[in-house]
Amino acid sequence: MIFKSIIEKTFHQQTITRLPTPVKSLGDFGKAARALCLTFDDGPDPVYTPALLDVLAAYNAKATFFVLGEAAKQYPHLIERIVADGHSIGNHTFSHVHPWLSSAERARHEILATSAIVKQITGTLPRWFRPPYGRMRLAMHQQAQRANMTTVLWNHSIIDWGLLGGTAGIRTRLEKISAGDIVLMHDGQRDHNRPDNLLRFLPDFLSSLTEKKLYTWSLDGIYAFQPDKYNA
Ligand SMILES: [Zn+2]
Repeated sequence: MIFKSIIEKTFHQQTITRLPTPVKSLGDFGKAARALCLTFDDGPDPVYTPALLDVLAAYNAKATFFVLGEAAKQYPHLIERIVADGHSIGNHTFSHVHPWLSSAERARHEILATSAIVKQITGTLPRWFRPPYGRMRLAMHQQAQRANMTTVLWNHSIIDWGLLGGTAGIRTRLEKISAGDIVLMHDGQRDHNRPDNLLRFLPDFLSSLTEKKLYTWSLDGIYAFQPDKYNA
């Protein structure tokens, strides 16, 4: 079982007693199906999200966007387009607050406000959650679980930010993607992200997938085949 949360259920309340284990890869199912999940964090961004969506559409690739509530609120048309293009939406908190600096009450607001904005735009609550910086903290996960979301991290990062986010490194790490991977990338520009460098190599990478017999899926697409593995 991928999501190993231990939950104590009483008649009146639900208490989570252990930090849940997040989904980090697609496991055996992904390997057998030659499937992989591309994920883009910190958007939507008015410059890079449309550019990435154009590239994904050109190669009929499906992905998942872990969006910030504050950006979704500012650019609702980009959320609409992500969904219209067949991709999944995940919740990445409202303002990208560091989980270790967030009170339980702040975590609750960050998560619920973001889900409410996504629902207002798309009509559907997100069922995927990714904490900022991938940092696991109990208070934040309790809130995500209570909002019926599965926490998804990654097993392969393109490191498209900071000093390592140059073009050579990004290209090398894109080439190393293999079946079963959940891949971390960024469309938002915060925290020294380099979606501009990513965009230079994404078309070549996507065009190589047919030859490698690899198939991109959205998380909702994977979930449709394996719901039991992703229920908290
Ligand atoms: Zn982030």
